Amino acid sequence: MFLLYLVRLIPSFTSAALASVYSENVSVEILENIPLAPLTTLKLGGPARHFVEAHSMSEVQQAVAFARERSLPLFVLGGGSNVVVSDKGWPGLVLKVAIGGIELRGDTTDGKLHLAVGAGESWDKFVSHAVMADCAGVECLSGIPGSVGGTPVQNVGAYGQEVSETISSVLALDLSDGQVREISNAGCGFKYRTSIFNSSERGRYIIVQVSFALTPGGKAHIVYDDLKEHFAGWQAHPSLAETREAVRHIRARKGMLIVQGDPDCQSVGSFFKNPVISAEQLADLKKRALQKGLTLPSYPGLQTQHKISAAWLVEQSGFSKGYGFGNVGISHKHALALVNRGGATASDLLTLRDEIQNRVEALWGLRLETEPVMV
Ligand SMILES: Cc1cc2nc3c(=O)[nH]c(=O)nc-3n(C[C@H](O)[C@H](O)[C@H](O)COP(=O)(O)OP(=O)(O)OC[C@H]3O[C@@H](n4cnc5c(N)ncnc54)[C@H](O)[C@@H]3O)c2cc1C
Repeated sequence: MFLLYLVRLIPSFTSAALASVYSENVSVEILENIPLAPLTTLKLGGPARHFVEAHSMSEVQQAVAFARERSLPLFVLGGGSNVVVSDKGWPGLVLKVAIGGIELRGDTTDGKLHLAVGAGESWDKFVSHAVMADCAGVECLSGIPGSVGGTPVQNVGAYGQEVSETISSVLALDLSDGQVREISNAGCGFKYRTSIFNSSERGRYIIVQVSFALTPGGKAHIVYDDLKEHFAGWQAHPSLAETREAVRHIRARKGMLIVQGDPDCQSVGSFFKNPVISAEQLADLKKRALQKGLTLPSYPGLQTQHKISAAWLVEQSGFSKGYGFGNVGISHKHALALVNRGGATASDLLTLRDEIQNRVEALWGLRLETEPVMV
């Protein structure tokens, strides 16, 4: 029923570029009892009772209809690089969005290159395309694992860039009424590691396509200290390709690039967000640091707020790089990356999370917020 309802609604929302996606008529294959661990970068957690990989809008709709008709809870999976799957797994349907395609959109009157990218495309492959086409805007986001559709969810950011700076709109299936909506950049409510997709409207949308406005011939964005250090002494401004290589190199050094066989990257990247705190909280933290003979590193956050280094708080609470017990620990290369050293359970990992959160709170009066999604 729900599927028929959707099919009737879709034509009035199609854009020319997406017509081929909507007109496909494919019977989607729903699998049972599929292990989720191999589909995540943490490589832990239980199975999905039902699982489907959707390569088109039609398959997404069929999967949603399947879940609705059976009252199954639905979880949308991208590249699995920001999820912690529980040891019990997922009792309903896991829908992996695998819609591909990078399309050039006609309008270049604003001097930008407009691209519409399928949510299932690999993010780093898209960045590579943009850099090869000499288009600036996402070069500092090189090497972030996961799918294009996953990037707006937590407004991914790294090395001085955030994806919200280049996303022009997001096309999504609205599960509240079955309509396909084009959500403008402003409508996505982007903030630091936040959007409507992981806050006020969590679980409402399935992102099927993301549109970007890139700057052809634009300069590489070199503002972050690590990048400045990397290029220190260079006469010419680094190209986009050189910047991409530098970012990937720095990320590999920090265990923030997926490298086969490196246990330090069996993680979700940073497990904790950098706290954004008020002036009063900052004053309190500075006082606590002073009492311990330490200086608090800080940098200006949004307007009246201050962003604090979560890595510093973790390390100053006795959790150094390489810390761990049994199968879980902290990466040897990055204090914020909790890693599965092999054979860990989600429960092991969450015990370590609790230990870190509790000790940081006891010593610094701040509860660290976690970044990944608990499934
Ligand atoms: C080694 C490593 C380094 C990392 N470095 C960074 C970094 O520098 N900066 C940063 O911001 N993040 C970083 N991350 C985190 C992660 O890569 C990003 O958050 C990524 O964008 C997640 O995308 P994904 O496709 O893997 O999403 P998943 O992990 O599959 O899902 C994450 C969330 O997004 C939702 N979601 C995914 N796809 C869709 C969709 N199509 N529609 C609706 N909801 C969807 C899921 O339901 C879930 O809630 C890193 C992770 C790792 C493992």
